[in-house]
Amino acid sequence: TKNMQMRNPAEKKPHAVLIPFPYQGHINPLFGLAKLLHLRGFHITFVHTEYNYKRLLNSRALKALHVLPDFHFETIPDGLPLTHDAANVSQDIVSLGKSVRENFLLPFRELLVKLNDSAIAGLIPPVTCLISDFGLTFTTQAAQELELPILLFSPSSATCFVSIMNLRALSDKGLIPLKDESYLTNGYLDTKVDWIPDNMLKASAIVINTSDELESEALKALSSMLPSVYPIGPFPSFLNQSPQSHLESSGSNLWKEDTECLEWLKSKENNSVVYVNFGSITIMTPEQLLEFAWGLANSKRPFLWIIRPDLVIGGSIILSSEFSNIVSDRGLIASWCPQEQVLNHPSIGGFLTHCGWNSTIESVCAGVPMLCWPFFADQPTNCKSICSEWGIGIEIDADVKRKEVEKNVNELMLGEKGKEMRQKVMQLKKKVEEETRSGGLSYMNLDKVISEVLLKKT
Ligand code: UDP
Repeated sequence: TKNMQMRNPAEKKPHAVLIPFPYQGHINPLFGLAKLLHLRGFHITFVHTEYNYKRLLNSRALKALHVLPDFHFETIPDGLPLTHDAANVSQDIVSLGKSVRENFLLPFRELLVKLNDSAIAGLIPPVTCLISDFGLTFTTQAAQELELPILLFSPSSATCFVSIMNLRALSDKGLIPLKDESYLTNGYLDTKVDWIPDNMLKASAIVINTSDELESEALKALSSMLPSVYPIGPFPSFLNQSPQSHLESSGSNLWKEDTECLEWLKSKENNSVVYVNFGSITIMTPEQLLEFAWGLANSKRPFLWIIRPDLVIGGSIILSSEFSNIVSDRGLIASWCPQEQVLNHPSIGGFLTHCGWNSTIESVCAGVPMLCWPFFADQPTNCKSICSEWGIGIEIDADVKRKEVEKNVNELMLGEKGKEMRQKVMQLKKKVEEETRSGGLSYMNLDKVISEVLLKKT
């Protein structure tokens, strides 16, 4: 136990154990849900891998959390070797995903036994419910063994979820698994197709970080396939409207955040800066990086560009002194930032994004229109929602060219289309705010899930 303190055994809070899939884009939203439940009076145990916990300590993301007696962290091994420089290096996501599916159940069970012992000793309230990423297949089994209610959490969109649910039908028709590697996109497609749906049927309920306003069609389709599906997001909007708490300053970013960029943004005019960030996993070739660099430079707009240390394939980022001069004039490059704070800064006028679901909804909740360069997984689907469904983004071709970047950056920041997209995204922001406010649909769904699932005695 990392920050458990002696507590009054008479105090019986409901106790939720939350376990994310150990990827950045899965950890952040589940941490958001943990914050929301903590605000509603839950005792929280948040489970990280040992590797990620080391990185979080290194990035100093946890800050104020260690002082709270009712929010604590536990760690379990991820089954991969712990390297000495663990705190600084990203893990290979494919090996990590495989290892987690194969090796997580045993230590997770052991952890639950340990928590039970602590509860018997009166140190913590007994565990009353589990909340698990929907990609962790073994957690429903653990819940069944302990007779605990379990929520499965989807950090990606409802639309993507529908696709997952259809994998089996595609498989039955012989369309997947794909015949050979020539069918793969980016070599990352997981050909193991039928592991999620069975798991879904064992959950007490399924919750998604989305809202009816964003994805009503997909949610309708999902409800016809699964018994209890609740859109309870988007969390950024929920949290923006929640009362301030100790949790405010604590996050879950594995990389150390550069907060100087917030100071830099203060010196810029409202809606003038293009924010560029491709998330935690997307990679690109050095040539693609150069096309983005010169597209941004030639657009003449100020920009804040986050270049992760492992963004470029091969690792070396070579930008000429000519480009560096342009950067020092009106750009800023950093390696990681507090994205939600950046997006909500009045100086930000547009977001060039890889369309990860978190980035997508964070941008909506901040009212910022997008330029989209989806890379893989659910990103092309999210890009379609952004550009075609909601009309708040412009897609950049996969084979990125500097001229196209320059043209679209200017369209986004100064053009008629940009103006229209800004109006639309502001309307969407307002609508999701209503949904996450008392009386709104997502707000009521969260209430319902808490009272009918998490607080229900099994
Ligand atoms: N993020 C951040 N700072 C960065 C880059 C990313 O805080 O410099 C956060 C971002 O706010 C989001 C998450 O990391 O919550 C990335 O998730 P997303 O689904 O957008 O993309 P993924 O990394 O999973 O591809």
